[in-house]
Amino acid sequence: MATLEIHDLHVSVEAENGPREILRGVDLTVKQGETHAIMGPNGSGKSTLAYSLAGHPKYTVTGGTVTLDGEDVLAMSVDERARAGVFLAMQYPVEVPGVSVSNFLRTSATAVRGEAPKLRTWVKEVKETMEALHMDASFAERNVNEGFSGGEKKRHEILQLELLKPKIAILDETDSGLDVDALRIVSEGVNRVRETGTVGTLLITHYTRILRYIKPDYVHVFAAGRIAESGGAELADKLENEGYEAYTKGGASE
Ligand code: ADP
Ligand code: MG
Ligand code: MG
Repeated sequence: MATLEIHDLHVSVEAENGPREILRGVDLTVKQGETHAIMGPNGSGKSTLAYSLAGHPKYTVTGGTVTLDGEDVLAMSVDERARAGVFLAMQYPVEVPGVSVSNFLRTSATAVRGEAPKLRTWVKEVKETMEALHMDASFAERNVNEGFSGGEKKRHEILQLELLKPKIAILDETDSGLDVDALRIVSEGVNRVRETGTVGTLLITHYTRILRYIKPDYVHVFAAGRIAESGGAELADKLENEGYEAYTKGGASE
């Protein structure tokens, strides 16, 4: 059973007036099969946590440890992290001009699995997953994220999630900008992956809305670069009613 362990993680970014500490001691353990919702106000550092785990070069780890089954994740390159089973669905997915969805998915799967997926089963798998996500087949020939609507970008992230079958999935605001139908379709995709029991999910969100479709095992409130409170699904209900004000008093967050 794979376990991601984050211990006392400190991360800085290079700002105009020098380095600025964004993550201030994050502790979190995510096991395969578990779903953790990370909720918090804008600017509290949720995306910074996501990028830091995926190895984005803009974020400098200044302290703490991240391990996956005891292996030092922070020592791994971005590619090595992906091969180790860490997957990030970005809040703002980037365009990859000149690369079709179809090629992108196959290249990603080959990189993660260490060998090219068998063509026959792969084509079928992609087709079925796209159908489940209500994506038109023509979508596969479009360039990655080029001219995609917000909803199409998020579906494409979940398509990758379903095909790559990571051990740890970090979903950064996969719900943002989705209408009710798209939210349901995307949530169903996340739940299909969850039901395999082989993925530990970090579901990062600002709103409680998605948690009606994806029931978290744990809820963590993120404020000012660290986890301010942890609880079960009932904590999300409290946040729904009371908001984040109790956690942001003192102006530590934005
Ligand atoms: P959240 O995802 O919770 O909204 P972020 O992690 O995006 O929060 O941002 C946390 C804080 O770090 C914000 O104040 C943001 O402006 C700052 N920040 C994040 N990334 C960068 C960056 N690359 N350069 C400068 N500041 C950054
Ligand atoms: Mg934000
Ligand atoms: Mg964010």
